[in-house]
Amino acid sequence: MVVSPLKEWTCSACGDTDAGWLTMDDGAPLCLSCADLAHLTFLGAGDAALTRRARKHSRLSAVVVRFSRARRRYERQGVLVEESALEQAEAECLADADVRLRRRQRERERRTVEDADFERELANEIDRLFPGCPSERVKEIAAHTSRRGSGRIGRTASAWALDSAAIRLAVVAAARHPESDYDDLLMAGLERSQARERVRIIVDSVLEQWRTPPS
Ligand SMILES: [Zn+2]
Repeated sequence: MVVSPLKEWTCSACGDTDAGWLTMDDGAPLCLSCADLAHLTFLGAGDAALTRRARKHSRLSAVVVRFSRARRRYERQGVLVEESALEQAEAECLADADVRLRRRQRERERRTVEDADFERELANEIDRLFPGCPSERVKEIAAHTSRRGSGRIGRTASAWALDSAAIRLAVVAAARHPESDYDDLLMAGLERSQARERVRIIVDSVLEQWRTPPS
């Protein structure tokens, strides 16, 4: 253990009075040169993985502490390790970060492709169930539903896509909003149930149109 001192001290071996950090040897303070630790590099606390690796690779290492008057205890400042060990640890951490970054990138790319597939699948299914629904609306509903589906239901998308009950619900929800004055009624202070009942008739007729194949 190496101490970052709060007061001036004198090295018991070389007599240096301005020798920086010290370590205790049989109850007597030694400067790092006299303790043969001067060749080590300081790594400040904060990066647990880097610290762990640097210490592992270092044949010699020491923990640096400093006494906190406020907290009345020694607090860890960092470690002293061999320069080569720190370099090796840094390289490993960088490689790890790089691997993680590339893994995330691949995952994102995979999801984009999956989402697009899912959205297309959904659009086909909506189109099959509601052949009278304008294709622009089909695309909108599919996009909206797939965004919600991907967050909520996870990656069981294709199984879910084939669940026509879920699709019907999504289409009904879509019809309730832009196809009616539902939001206006809610804004006007109508109870949700009353508003739904008022727009139910409009929504039903919209759905009826959407269910009917265009002639
Ligand atoms: Zn000394």
